[in-house]
Amino acid sequence: MAAPGNTNAIFPKGEKTSPDYFTGTAWLNLLVPKDETGNYSVSDIVFEPGAKTNWHTHPAGQILLVTDGKGYYQERGKPARSLTKGDVVVIPSLIEHWHGAARDSSFTHIAISNFTEKGAVDWLEAVTDEEYNRLDR
Ligand code: MN
Repeated sequence: MAAPGNTNAIFPKGEKTSPDYFTGTAWLNLLVPKDETGNYSVSDIVFEPGAKTNWHTHPAGQILLVTDGKGYYQERGKPARSLTKGDVVVIPSLIEHWHGAARDSSFTHIAISNFTEKGAVDWLEAVTDEEYNRLDR
């Protein structure tokens, strides 16, 4: 079935994400920049169907609040966790993981990212088609 689109969007779409760090089309709206209220940022991220982050880590963790669609969170070496509206993901520091949309649905989450002096994210390689296709089995 075709994706219903982002009809329940809470926040407007932001800027297109970099192909250096994301596969497919995703949009990032930086709602609260770091230092405005603390040592973290708050962003709304919209993934089109099949879009996802590269593998990455956060030096001081991250929280995802899922607001729309269907997607996944996967830690390296573990089964992917399926996500829908209302799910909360607490990502520990330095754990290799990715997040993104299911193949047949858009996916939207708010990301609360803690910063250190080394930034909020360390990017790794793209999720391979083989890794992503494994989700269907
Ligand atoms: Mn993350």
